[in-house]
Amino acid sequence: MNSTMDNRVLVTGGAGFLGSHLCERLLNDGFDVLCVDNFFTGRKENILHLMQNAHFEMMRHDVTFPLYVEVDRIYNLACPASPVHYQFDPVQTTKTSVHGAINMLGLAKRVKARILQASTSEVYGDPEVHPQPEEYWGRVNPIGIRSCYDEGKRCAETLFFDYHRQHQLQIKVMRIFNTYGPRMHPNDGRVVSNFIVQALQGEDITIYGNGQQTRSFCYVDDLIDGMVRFMESDPEFTGPVNVGNPTEFTMLALAEQVLKLVGGASKLVFKPLPQDDPKQRQPNIELAKEQLGWEPKVSLEDGLKETVAYFRALLGRQTR
Ligand code: NAD
Ligand code: UDP
Ligand code: UDP
Repeated sequence: MNSTMDNRVLVTGGAGFLGSHLCERLLNDGFDVLCVDNFFTGRKENILHLMQNAHFEMMRHDVTFPLYVEVDRIYNLACPASPVHYQFDPVQTTKTSVHGAINMLGLAKRVKARILQASTSEVYGDPEVHPQPEEYWGRVNPIGIRSCYDEGKRCAETLFFDYHRQHQLQIKVMRIFNTYGPRMHPNDGRVVSNFIVQALQGEDITIYGNGQQTRSFCYVDDLIDGMVRFMESDPEFTGPVNVGNPTEFTMLALAEQVLKLVGGASKLVFKPLPQDDPKQRQPNIELAKEQLGWEPKVSLEDGLKETVAYFRALLGRQTR
C-alpha cells in the first residue's frame, strides 16, 4: 500500500476501542497513521504498543475544533459510544457528532480526502422493522436521553450526504451494530463488558428489564475488516451500509454464555430497563455481503473467549 500516493490516514477517536484496533490494522497494511483523540473515553494504554512505530503519530485534539492536516483518508470515529459516557455531557456529544463532522468534512473537502463516518444502528432507534435494512428510516425519539447520540449521528449522516451532493466529496457511511472485544472500556456500562467484569469479579450479573430484549454482537476484528474494505471499495459506493453480526441473542442468553466461559458463582439480578431501550436489534447485512464481499467470521463464543482473556489480564493488573 505504501507504493500508492494514498497512504496518509487520519483516524479520529483513534485511542478508543474501535479506533485503536483500526490504527493497528492500518499500520499492518502499510499506511501512515495519524491518530487524533481528546482522551474523553479513549486511553493511552490502547495505543501505547503503537508508539514505537515510525509510521504512527498521536495528536491530542478535540474534533469540535478545526483541524488542519494533510491526509488522503479520514476515518471519523470520534464520539463516545456507550450510554453512560455519551449521557455524561450530552451537549458535548451532539457537538462532537455535528461540529466534528463539519470540521472533518471541511478538512476532507480542502485536501480532497475520502472520508468514512462511523455511524450507528442507533439511527434506527427502537425499530418497528426487523431486521433493519439500510432503507429503513428509523424510529428515534428526538428529545429523549439517547437523542444526543442518535440525532447527532443522524445529523452527521445528513452532513455527509450533503457534502457529497454539494461538494462531490467521496464519502462512506457505515452503520455499525453492537461490537465488542478487547480494549472495550471496563466501566463503559455496555452489556458485554459489564457481564464479563461482573462475572470475573464474582459480582451479580445485572440484567436490565426481563432480559428478553435482543442484540447481535460483532467481534471487533470482523468489524474492522468490514470498515477497511468499505473505505477501499468502489468510490461510487457511499453506503449507508450496515456492518454487524446478524446472529441475535437475548441478554439472558448472553449472560449464560459469559457465565459458562468465566465460571464462578455470580447470580443474575434484574434491574429496571433504561428509558428508550430498543427491544430488538439485528442488522440486515445483504448489502455489505454484495458490495464488500464481507460477512462476520468470529462466533460469539470465540469472540467472548478473547474478550474474557483481555479483561482477566486487565483486572489482574489493576488489583496488583
Ligand atoms: P470509544 O468511546 O472507545 O471511542 C471513541 C473515541 O473518541 C475515544 O477515544 C474518545 O476519547 C474519542 N473522542 C470522543 N469525543 C471526542 C472529541 N470531541 N474529539 C476527539 N476525540 C473524541 O467508542 P468505540 O466503541 O470505539 O466507538 C468508536 C466509534 O464507533 C464511535 O463514533 C461510535 O459512535 C461508533 N460505534 C461504535 C459501536 C460499538 O458497538 N462499539 C457501535 C456503533 C457505532
Ligand atoms: N476545516 C477544518 N480543516 C480544514 C478545512 C476546514 O477543520 O482543513 C473546518 C473549518 O473550520 C470549517 C469547517 O471545516 O468550519 C467546514 O469547512 P467548509 O470549507 O465546508 O466550510 P466553511 O469554511 O465555508 O465554513
Ligand atoms: N444491559 C443489561 N445489563 C447491563 C448493561 C446493559 O441488561 O449491565 C442491556 C441494555 O438494557 C440493552 C442491552 O443490554 O438492552 C445492550 O446494551 P448496551 O448498552 O450494551 O448497548 P445498546 O443499548 O446501545 O445496544
